[in-house]
Amino acid sequence: MNVGYRDFGTFLREHFTGKVQKISINAGFTCPNRDGTLGTGGCTYCNNQTFNPEYCNPGKSVAEQLAEGRQFFARKYPEMQYLAYFQAYTNTYGEMARLRRLYEEALAAPGVVGLIIGTRPDCVPDELLEYLASLKKRGVFVLVEYGVETSRNDTLKIINRGHTWEQCADAINRTAAHGIMTGAHIIAGLPGEGAADVVRTARLLSQLPLDTVKLHQLQIIRGTRLARQVADGELAVKQWSVDEYICVCIDFIRNLAPTIAIERFTSQSPDNLLISPRWGLKNYQFANLLQRAICKDKVCQGSALYG
Ligand code: SF4
Repeated sequence: MNVGYRDFGTFLREHFTGKVQKISINAGFTCPNRDGTLGTGGCTYCNNQTFNPEYCNPGKSVAEQLAEGRQFFARKYPEMQYLAYFQAYTNTYGEMARLRRLYEEALAAPGVVGLIIGTRPDCVPDELLEYLASLKKRGVFVLVEYGVETSRNDTLKIINRGHTWEQCADAINRTAAHGIMTGAHIIAGLPGEGAADVVRTARLLSQLPLDTVKLHQLQIIRGTRLARQVADGELAVKQWSVDEYICVCIDFIRNLAPTIAIERFTSQSPDNLLISPRWGLKNYQFANLLQRAICKDKVCQGSALYG
């Protein structure tokens, strides 16, 4: 258990007894920001090669991917329960019948007790939410994780997200109104943004019915439009040092409602794809440094909201 903030392990222990592990799945979805519906270029920072572990291959069925993912853990922890994590691209983007088939295939796999579904806020029709609510009534753990990225609409435009903050708030509110858990994914240090913008986003997230949030530093990935824009001097991005980013995380914690579990603070793209920042730290090493700073500064989640 971490000190100073509500961590994801604590959140999971409130829902499950025993160990639970997420297994990532690439179910072969695309995304409306890539297939021409909204655009073809995608978000400027996006390189989907960074999403997937090796076993996660859309050439394999959902059941096969889950079986391979399970092999990593089952020998050591035979009692392990699993959450199928539909991670790559937009995992609610498709015909209802196809979505239903893929989710049910995951739930039929041995040991799978729930779904975590990563998606965009503009891809959640009420029909889908009603179906997910019916899964919840069957006792299935369901969490829909939205790519929010920032609360600033001008930044969302610069990074070509193709949706607004208001759409994010609406999707999260509608999902929660169906009794389904919600998560938000946020990127710190997007073009034109600084630490104050991360705080602003934390405060606005705090007003939404969110269960979890993931924060991570902006990473500049080879082959992306963002990498070209930065190399050409078209855009400047904030490149925080480790110590500076720890301060950003602490401000984020202090400005986030204490009911929201924080799943992570960093992301680590494959070394061969990452241009910057190159901190040379594994996620767990960063987490240890952050935890030390949290203890030293007696950080308490949400304290800046009510102080
Ligand atoms: S980040 Fe998500 S929404 Fe954006 S282009 Fe990539 S898959 Fe599509």
